[in-house]
Amino acid sequence: MKVLLVDDSPVDRVISEAFLLELGHDVILGENGQQALELYREHNPDIILMDEVMPVMRGHEAAKAIREQEDNWVPIIFLSARFTAEDITAGIDAGGDDYLAKPLDQQVLAAKMKAMERISKMRQRLLEVSEELETANVELKRLADVDGLTGLANRRYMDRFLSHEVARCSRNKEPLTVIMCDIDEFKAYNDFYGHLKGDDCIKMIANTLMSSSKRATDLAARFGGEEFALILPNTTESDAKRLAEKVRAKVEALNIMHEKSSVENYVTLSMGVYNGVPTKMLRGEDYLNLADKALYHAKQHGRNKVVNYADIE
Ligand code: GH3
Ligand code: MG
Ligand code: MG
Repeated sequence: MKVLLVDDSPVDRVISEAFLLELGHDVILGENGQQALELYREHNPDIILMDEVMPVMRGHEAAKAIREQEDNWVPIIFLSARFTAEDITAGIDAGGDDYLAKPLDQQVLAAKMKAMERISKMRQRLLEVSEELETANVELKRLADVDGLTGLANRRYMDRFLSHEVARCSRNKEPLTVIMCDIDEFKAYNDFYGHLKGDDCIKMIANTLMSSSKRATDLAARFGGEEFALILPNTTESDAKRLAEKVRAKVEALNIMHEKSSVENYVTLSMGVYNGVPTKMLRGEDYLNLADKALYHAKQHGRNKVVNYADIE
């Protein structure tokens, strides 16, 4: 271990250093509490052995200062010729971990060093495990919000996002758009090409949606099965319609063969748009329902089209 040994007595320092070197440790030497602080910061030792009675700054004071500034615990063992119950209590209260009587006994020193090393290693392992747990937690949190197949936001996240945006747009009197999208005659696609090809198709369309909504504030989500939703805060009706039309045309341009479609011989997307400034009477659920009504209208009128709710009223 890297040991910081602090003692104002040159003789004691030499003896303790010799013991430690013999036990195979590396030693950094200091002469008072102030130096202990500086050497601690500079060398980041694994353990500190420190005399209590020293000029400039006593051992207890130095231990207190180390405990105040550090975020990484290092064992501190006090060395002292005085060894009363009060000394021990004061040393532990100051942030020390143990006491060793001077003159040092090499065997006792070796045993205490071993014990401290063991505690230090266990603590290190604990820190590593808690770091791993933290990383796993962040990943779990992310996964809980993401759709596994497409990487888009999932329904759970979308619901939260929508209610948040409804509240924000309502406060700011800004328009909010929801676009519902549904792949046309996708059951026939699955039946004919198989479920795996169906999944590939869903992924391609998800990518198109993701790359089409360019603003950081927009959200593309997988609503369920072969249905998607785009949520566009602070977006005008005409901008929303333009974006929807762009997505529809992009899906067409993917040219995914769909022999069983009655619409075209490639995969197409129907879309319903609802735009409005949220009010007490117009909440997230209403946006989804009204956009869905527009989508239904698109399905009823030939599919592969964008229908704006305001145009069917
Ligand atoms: P419409 O044009 O009216 O939307 O017809 P449709 O066949 O697309 O509508 P319907 O809702 O009847 O069928 C949706 C189909 O989507 C049912 C199922 O076969 C397929 N589907 C839903 N989720 C998934 C999925 O995760 N993977 C795959 N491969 N297929 C899915
Ligand atoms: Mg559907
Ligand atoms: Mg469909």
